[in-house]
Amino acid sequence: RIAGLINNDTPLDEWPGELFTVEQNIQLTDRLLGNPVQPGDALGRTLALGRETMFGEIETSQLRGRGGAGFNTAWKWRFCYDGPEAAVCPPGQPAAGIERYVVCNADEGEPGTFKDRVLLQSSADQVFEGMTVCAHLVGAKRGFLYLRGEYLYLYDRLEAVLAARRQRGLLGKAILGKEGFDFDIEIRLGAGAYICGEESALIESLEGNRGIPRNRPPYPVTHGYLGQPTVVNNVETFFAAAAIAVHGGEWFAAVGTEKSKGTKLLSICGDCARPGIYEYPFGVTVARILEDCGAADVLGVQIGGPSGTFLSDKEFDRKLAYEDLATGGSFIVFDRTRDVIEIARNFTHFFAHESCGFCTPCRVGTPLLKNLLDKIAAGHGATGDLAELSRLGRFVRSASHCGLGQTAANPILSTLERYPEIYQARLKTIDFEPGFDLDGALA
Ligand code: NAD
Ligand code: SF4
Repeated sequence: RIAGLINNDTPLDEWPGELFTVEQNIQLTDRLLGNPVQPGDALGRTLALGRETMFGEIETSQLRGRGGAGFNTAWKWRFCYDGPEAAVCPPGQPAAGIERYVVCNADEGEPGTFKDRVLLQSSADQVFEGMTVCAHLVGAKRGFLYLRGEYLYLYDRLEAVLAARRQRGLLGKAILGKEGFDFDIEIRLGAGAYICGEESALIESLEGNRGIPRNRPPYPVTHGYLGQPTVVNNVETFFAAAAIAVHGGEWFAAVGTEKSKGTKLLSICGDCARPGIYEYPFGVTVARILEDCGAADVLGVQIGGPSGTFLSDKEFDRKLAYEDLATGGSFIVFDRTRDVIEIARNFTHFFAHESCGFCTPCRVGTPLLKNLLDKIAAGHGATGDLAELSRLGRFVRSASHCGLGQTAANPILSTLERYPEIYQARLKTIDFEPGFDLDGALA
């Protein structure tokens, strides 16, 4: 069990490159990382069992989307396959020519999250295998890997994996000799916009448009790429699906909690001795993770990135599971040398910078939050500013068009709720001379 060799601050030119293997860098459990899928194994079993039985395996596994929201994967794939044909036609367009698509969301932009980049570096074959299993189940012929622009260095390596799969008959026409099972995957690069990780903005970007989130519903499973039924899943979801196709749904669901089956990959970084990628069964406590990664004198933990939750040291008995703390995989540790307001300020600057500008509450609200927090952090805040910060934060949360704006105030609201005394203490105070007549002066 080795961890701690990487974190998300590791400069790309210091990345271990070819020497990098899962075994060297990731703490192993006996679930996903300890049971890699060999190329073709998941597809072979899928073809042997047939579509409905394999759908049954994915259902039994109760796999939920690993990007953070945790939507049931079997339902998503089923909606795409079964979706009423009438519902998939964009208004005014004929029903003919329906194509289904599979998209792997590798636009891993959540600060503190780097598990997908490791999976793509170490186990891309398994991720592509999961996408191909999905394509067979939903009846898709084209797939896309939407790769975060900053992961450009992975591009050639991923193209080589795709080429090898085509060579082996695992992509292209008549996959594994099965007539009519045609599917291929194209890599598309993002260009550094965080919002393109939101699935509908990602689809806009795939179509060559500016990455602006669409109204949902309709969801991509019925109105996705080019208005057609599209499955969009995270890298880790496809990686897990391939393992389920080989080992079965019951094997996967044997660990975890009632509503959160299986294991979760976590990107652990910050103030700890052993940052890295860890795999845990759902239900693990925050305290256990902190112990494993060698964190001491912990002030708090940011779970699920800036859009997630900031936990104080009174909440470390809470569990990682959709029943309690849902996360896409980011786990950032802060020790007591850190300033809570600076943490919130850093994340708030991030959101103000990444707001796509489409809707007013977020475009205008995030810079206002940023400016107000800057003022308070600099010690110039007045008494009413904390109430204003809270009011504005709740407004941006409730009025914004997409998840970015709806979560942009989380760092402020969650730290304000847990540490009101720290914010209070930072407000501007004026010390008057003893006996100074303030009322008289104001009059
Ligand atoms: P969501 O709950 O709206 O949707 C989750 C998925 O389920 C989507 O694919 C959506 O299309 C599908 N879905 C939901 N309801 C459906 C329905 N009725 N019919 C068919 N499909 C349906 O969540 P979201 O806004 O897509 O994602 C938010 C999550 O993304 C947050 O949990 C956040 O933590 C996470 N996130 C992750 C990263 C990362 O880098 N991994 C970055 C930013 C945010
Ligand atoms: Fe764009 Fe922000 Fe509005 Fe989302 S909430 S559409 S990121 S401006």
